[in-house]
Amino acid sequence: MKSSENQICPLYISGKWVDIIGKTGSPVFNPSRGKIIASVPMCGPAEVDLAVASAKAAFPAWRDTPPNERAQVLFRAKILLEDAFEELCLGIATEHGKTLSESRGDLRRGIEVVEYACGIPTLLMGESLENIARGIDCHTDRHPLGVVAGICPFNFPALVPMWMWPIAIACGNTFILKPSEKVPLTMQRVVAILEKAGMPPGVMNIVHGGREVVDAILEHPDVKAISFVGSTPVAREIHRKGTLHGKRVQAAGGAKNFIILMPDADVDRTVEAVKDGAFGCAGERCMAGSTAVAVGDAGEKLLPALADLVKAMKVGPTDVRETQPDMGAVISAEHKTRVSSLIDAGERGGAKILADGRSMKVDEAPEGFFLGPTLIDHVQQSNPLMETEVFGPVLAVMRAKTLDEAIASANRQAFGNGAAIFTNSGKAAREFRRRVRAGMVGINVGVPAPLAYFPFSGWNDSFFGDLHIQGKEGVEFYTQRKTTTTRWFGFGDGEIWAK
Ligand code: NAD
Repeated sequence: MKSSENQICPLYISGKWVDIIGKTGSPVFNPSRGKIIASVPMCGPAEVDLAVASAKAAFPAWRDTPPNERAQVLFRAKILLEDAFEELCLGIATEHGKTLSESRGDLRRGIEVVEYACGIPTLLMGESLENIARGIDCHTDRHPLGVVAGICPFNFPALVPMWMWPIAIACGNTFILKPSEKVPLTMQRVVAILEKAGMPPGVMNIVHGGREVVDAILEHPDVKAISFVGSTPVAREIHRKGTLHGKRVQAAGGAKNFIILMPDADVDRTVEAVKDGAFGCAGERCMAGSTAVAVGDAGEKLLPALADLVKAMKVGPTDVRETQPDMGAVISAEHKTRVSSLIDAGERGGAKILADGRSMKVDEAPEGFFLGPTLIDHVQQSNPLMETEVFGPVLAVMRAKTLDEAIASANRQAFGNGAAIFTNSGKAAREFRRRVRAGMVGINVGVPAPLAYFPFSGWNDSFFGDLHIQGKEGVEFYTQRKTTTTRWFGFGDGEIWAK
């Protein structure tokens, strides 16, 4: 694979890196510096045809490769990913802007999906029942779907694609990856590692671009299933179009995750966890705790300590291994402006700013897309900040008199990804867990993102589809069942056993 400064990212088709000339390029930035480091060719149906043909040609041999041999490729990939771990993480930090420590989390969680997929012989096992009628047996087993595709967002350059391809490929499918045009470089490096691990040509393919390429994938008759992760309007549309074209679709969307702060919560540990949940990855996480509801006098007990922690956070460039900040840049200049104007609107709506990140200056990287962590109190339900996913380093705090009122506020929003409560009361925690309308719940855990063996189980406008990403649902999504009923004449009439 070619790798150079300001490269035009190649496609990966039939085991070869393919340069695409003459297409409009979309810039890839190093957000810490505000500088372009690469560009992505905005491809269309012709390039999707190439990728699908490659994946389709590779499918029969890969499907017929025994699951334990497929797992061997993933075992080798896991070892090579560990060898390259630190280098890959610095690459994530550079193209995304998150800190090195957050980049390590991004890749570590992704490698855990590879480890999970290494257990594919067990995960694919079917079920059987002998003698469902006299002399007749029945068994059901799992078969891959064929060519499947994954379309990814910018915020986890390693993890989100790795939610998808390790399980899809382990199940015997061949894969087309459409990385985010904002962060294509990490998966380019990972796919080069898969090649070294012995992944046969055509099993894994990369195409680049935006809406045009995604539409071509959605409409292609040979693509059997689509995994999508991104914002809600796009997720909804991908699910609609994909299912209309007869494909299986799992589409994870945006989020607005509520954290309920009870007056009996442990102050030190709660404020630390709430700070990490809101400002980790500069708030660009679908599981970020972006809205807190302080119940009773929890605000008075917790917010002064939280404001002190937030104000002490160091913000800066993340692309230098030796000098890492607490928080990095946001993804783009446009996103910085969007988040700032949401804070402006929040302030105009009457909220009180306890820590203001809008005027953040970073001397060592003046062109970087930096915003400081922002903490806003007394946000009303009607505030513009409450109407949208902010996806930046902003924690909006509402006040509520009772737990009932707090749960009602959390349940009023359209999303349903994560929700958390901080309390020492088992009764309050149980009540919250049962009644909150979100698919991933944390009890004294700020970011309740499940590991590889559990489904990433968003609800409401945070997920469109039937089978979630990861875990056993992931295996179910990427396979179809075949149920076989068998009779051998001469058995079952008692003759054999009688003898
Ligand atoms: P996005 O929706 O802008 O883009 C996601 C992908 O869709 C990209 O590959 C992009 O090229 C493509 N795309 C964009 N517009 C399209 C269109 N009109 N038609 C077809 N394809 C299109 O999302 P993003 O800004 O890259 O990522 C951030 C979003 O992802 C946030 O909303 C975040 O909550 C969400 N997210 C959700 C989860 C989850 O598990 N629910 C996880 C990570 C991120």
